[in-house]
Amino acid sequence: MSTQDADYNLLESVVREIGGDDAVKVASLLDPTEETTDEAIAAGAEMKLNAVRKVLYRLYDARLAEFRRIRDKSTGWFIYFWRLKPNRVEELVINRKKTVYRKLKARLDYEQKYHFFNCDQNYCPRYTFDEAMENNFKCPECNGELQAFDNSDIIKNLSKKVKELRKSLEKSGVNIDHIDSGIDINQIVATDKPTAIADSTGNSSNGSK
Ligand SMILES: [Zn+2]
Repeated sequence: MSTQDADYNLLESVVREIGGDDAVKVASLLDPTEETTDEAIAAGAEMKLNAVRKVLYRLYDARLAEFRRIRDKSTGWFIYFWRLKPNRVEELVINRKKTVYRKLKARLDYEQKYHFFNCDQNYCPRYTFDEAMENNFKCPECNGELQAFDNSDIIKNLSKKVKELRKSLEKSGVNIDHIDSGIDINQIVATDKPTAIADSTGNSSNGSK
């Protein structure tokens, strides 16, 4: 996956939060350098002009889009020329990446710091060594025997994602050491599903459709 695809997926998820599928459609027809009219967008997105305008003003409110208007001399009406606000888009994408990086890095540190135990039932949670010992290595849910849980695959996947994000953030001039020093793993609990975190970031390898 290229960094550009990842950026696009992140931008798309930001836009979707602002205005749903319609906003994604409209934003995909906007460009950071070339201006477009609302009418051209309505035609391209096969949406009603009013709906397009509503989305455009939402994007404008979120400082994601900007416009320039000129008066049409023959009709006296204003014509609006829209474009994506390039710096703002980049800023949003970087902020989103920082948040995801913080989450994944904290989880990675946590997975590397502790040893985990589980029973052979898929629906039961994992436990830390301390928790397992307190329960005499019997699962509190099903009373099954608790055995060492191999989290090396989780660590491998998290490391890969953290490394990718780190590289991309460093490229954007972000001070990673500063972020790393602010990471706190104390609020993480063993029963959280680590894969769910990695999948909820919008940065999974399959991306959003
Ligand atoms: Zn169990």
